[in-house]
Amino acid sequence: MAKQEDIFKNVVSHAKEYGFIFPSSEVYDGLSAVYDYAQNGVELKKNIREYWWKSMVQMNENIVGLDAAILMHPTTWKASGHVDAFNDPLIDNKDSKKRYRADVLVEDFAEKIHQKAQKEIDKAKARFGDAFNEQEFITTNARVVEYLAREKEIRERLGRSLGNGDLEDVKALIEELEIADPETGSRNWTDVKQFNLMFGTKLGASAENAMDLYLRPETAQGIFVNFLNVQKSGRMKVPFGIAQTGKAFRNEIVARQFIFRMREFEQMEMQFFVRPGEEMQWYEHWKQTRLNWHLSLGLGKENYRFHDHEKLAHYANAAADIEFNFPFGFKELEGIHSRTDFDLKAHEQYSGRKLQYFDPELNENYVPYVVETSVGLDRMFLAVFATSLQEETLEDGSERTVLKLPAVLAPTKAAVLPLVKKDGLPEISKKIIEDLKWDFNVSYDEKDAVGRRYRRQDALGTPFCITVDHQTLEDETVTIRHRDTMKQDRVKISELRGIIENEVSMKNWLMKM
Ligand code: ATP
Repeated sequence: MAKQEDIFKNVVSHAKEYGFIFPSSEVYDGLSAVYDYAQNGVELKKNIREYWWKSMVQMNENIVGLDAAILMHPTTWKASGHVDAFNDPLIDNKDSKKRYRADVLVEDFAEKIHQKAQKEIDKAKARFGDAFNEQEFITTNARVVEYLAREKEIRERLGRSLGNGDLEDVKALIEELEIADPETGSRNWTDVKQFNLMFGTKLGASAENAMDLYLRPETAQGIFVNFLNVQKSGRMKVPFGIAQTGKAFRNEIVARQFIFRMREFEQMEMQFFVRPGEEMQWYEHWKQTRLNWHLSLGLGKENYRFHDHEKLAHYANAAADIEFNFPFGFKELEGIHSRTDFDLKAHEQYSGRKLQYFDPELNENYVPYVVETSVGLDRMFLAVFATSLQEETLEDGSERTVLKLPAVLAPTKAAVLPLVKKDGLPEISKKIIEDLKWDFNVSYDEKDAVGRRYRRQDALGTPFCITVDHQTLEDETVTIRHRDTMKQDRVKISELRGIIENEVSMKNWLMKM
């Protein structure tokens, strides 16, 4: 555990030291769970957004984009159920005065039991090698069977009591499992209460006429209320999708995990409108397609898993999370939800307008069903950043810190380094930059010995360093150094563009999907 905490601390401090993420308004000691993206962070974030947008909008003829406003008519949130039901169950510890999400306390407890089972499985795997049959082991090893049954029982009971709004039973469960305050060990808990997560604000100049609004807690509703506008103006045929990226705001109860749980964050959502009755096949399709998108980044298959929901939200008839192995364990990265016709029907009811589609093939009107994919851009950032940050011991025994970002997402694609600050080498370096900057983000660095400059670029995640030396003056060649292998090749300046393009082009990465 201590090790995991150290890794996470390292991620946070690296993000700050190398200009990726700063606490918001830090001169005033920051604002809890709000962060700013710095010069390198903003590039990485932009690249993740673009990687998502391309795969969704550009690569699918039947998916179009949208950029709806953050402020929406307040009835939107009545219709969507957020005013009445966008609550988290909170619990306070009477001794430490710390506040927690009751469901998260129980889920973390269940996850610990899961880890125990996993440990037994890993041990057996190591012992039996190729002969190991995991499925058989899981169903026959007494200890593993017991752990997994216990985990299931706890998760199901939590799902049931949350589903029924039975907060007393959630408290009873916490007491029965003897769950203690993770920070202090105290078991002196208050009752579980509901807490609405929406931020309120006001529209209008005078206090009397002001209208109460909410900052949107999800981007999805902007898509639902525009469903018919887009369908008609774009002459879209079901099935079709609308994709959107943008800010969402939630007054989270517990926000202590850096950019994992923020109060202001960004979502990348796509709502796919389908014929009623066809939603389950599209739900399976999007589950797999979204997992493939994640896998295309090469962060390791073992770092992802599906978690099918026991407790379904009020709008869903099926839901799964893609969970990622963050430095603090497996947690939700993306949600895939079959939202039925709940949202469109609710907006019909509250607005009095029809939100229906005329299906020319069936010759009938209906309210489409919706399958949603919703991934947090900041969580994606954390997944990519934390997994890429590695400490390596080199052959000569020295250590290096390297940020092995997928090259397609790296903020800077290449750094151009003159070996010395004289003899015309800086001028050639700048000329190379002038050429490359039309296609890639490139940077220039002439300070310190070249070895230290390499280390700095490694820590920033730059996939290539291009070094200009005296031989360049003679034959127009440079060395190009690869971040991950540290291998150096001598190449012609004219070849640089092609070499970089091959490694960083979105096309080459997306084709792995
Ligand atoms: P959680 O259970 O972790 O609170 P959620 O199930 O409420 O998340 P959704 O409403 O499904 O999340 O939102 C979709 C995605 O938005 C999540 O998978 C996550 O990546 C992201 N997200 C949600 N809340 C936050 C937050 N407070 N900070 C950063 N990202 C968030």
